[in-house]
Amino acid sequence: MPGIIKERLFTPGPTPLLLEAQVQTLTATLHHRTEAFRQLMRESLDNLKYFFNTQNDVLIFTSSGTGAMEGAVTNLLSPGERVLVGTAGKFGERWLDLARVYGLEAVKVEASYGNTLNIEEMKRKLESEGPFRAVFVQATETSTGVSHDVKALGALVRELPDTCLVVDGITGLGTTELLPDEWGLDVVIGGSQKALMIPPGLAFASVSEKAWKLMAKSRLPRYYFDFSKERKNLAKGEASYTPATTLVVSLHGALRYIRQLGRENLISNAALLAEATRAAAQAQGLGLFAKGSPANAVTAICAPEGMDSGAIVKEMRVRFGAIIANGQGTMKGHIFRLAHLGYYDVADLFAVIAALEVVLKKLGHRVELGSGVRAAQEVYLQHHS
Ligand code: PLP
Repeated sequence: MPGIIKERLFTPGPTPLLLEAQVQTLTATLHHRTEAFRQLMRESLDNLKYFFNTQNDVLIFTSSGTGAMEGAVTNLLSPGERVLVGTAGKFGERWLDLARVYGLEAVKVEASYGNTLNIEEMKRKLESEGPFRAVFVQATETSTGVSHDVKALGALVRELPDTCLVVDGITGLGTTELLPDEWGLDVVIGGSQKALMIPPGLAFASVSEKAWKLMAKSRLPRYYFDFSKERKNLAKGEASYTPATTLVVSLHGALRYIRQLGRENLISNAALLAEATRAAAQAQGLGLFAKGSPANAVTAICAPEGMDSGAIVKEMRVRFGAIIANGQGTMKGHIFRLAHLGYYDVADLFAVIAALEVVLKKLGHRVELGSGVRAAQEVYLQHHS
């Protein structure tokens, strides 16, 4: 008899749901062409600006985050145009895939998995191989647990009047300080199943005035993800097509919670959990995959020499109901990832670290029980004296 095992998500999306926001969906029978829904949309759009930390328009789409990434490409560019892509993992590679599919000429700056992008190299490419219509990067590369210096990149791109900086902030938003307006992040993409604490199905894009001007000239085909059409409709509190109404209800509730909590507190929560996780992993004799600039959103941890990270992922699920993420692509089997974005708290962290210690010991890693938990507790106490 295994006893009670509760399933808990420690994955970088979907993330644990905010119960208050979910409960509201049970009683919502909304039609999207009503004043009640328009009111909900208007309030959500206003609070999304707070979440994104911007005065720019924020658009909502019913899709996963990749839909808004694709929309950023098709709305900004014309066939054959040149783009600069900074890639350091599976999601950076998605920008390259999109560029290829839409017949763009992509120049890439690549950092090997676990490393952050070299901004000097991006600068050199911008100067020597331009002009580029757009630069695409991630704020945080979820597949490797690394963050990129989008502030420094923004300072470079804002000097170029015909180039937009597009930042995939899908796991950066709510975990990392981002100042789109001051830093010149022209388009920032978000997704609902991350720090927003609600299910998958909504994608977001903030769009600067500079980006709107360039979009007016772009010629790639687009239909569903037509940013200017969506902007016009959202100004009336409406979506162009039937939106996922229940998700908009959850979004409304979650944004209200985030506003009460404070964006900065949401970010510092993720930062504390990430710092404590890194300390715990090292105390357990595990290596960190990020070689610098570790992300607050997720920590990528190397499996002990000779141990398949899939075995750790499996044991965590079977013994403790803890769903953690394996590595993606060539990282599969070598790393596992613990998330900190959204509705995770310190007690969640202490528990998952304690569970990890048991699993590591069972799988034959020489770890002293309590060593990781103690390291995490010490980090907590340093921040809460
Ligand atoms: N970009 C980043 C940084 C992500 O973490 C993810 C999802 O994990 C995506 C893009 C893709 O988002 P979606 O799966 O919602 O399309």
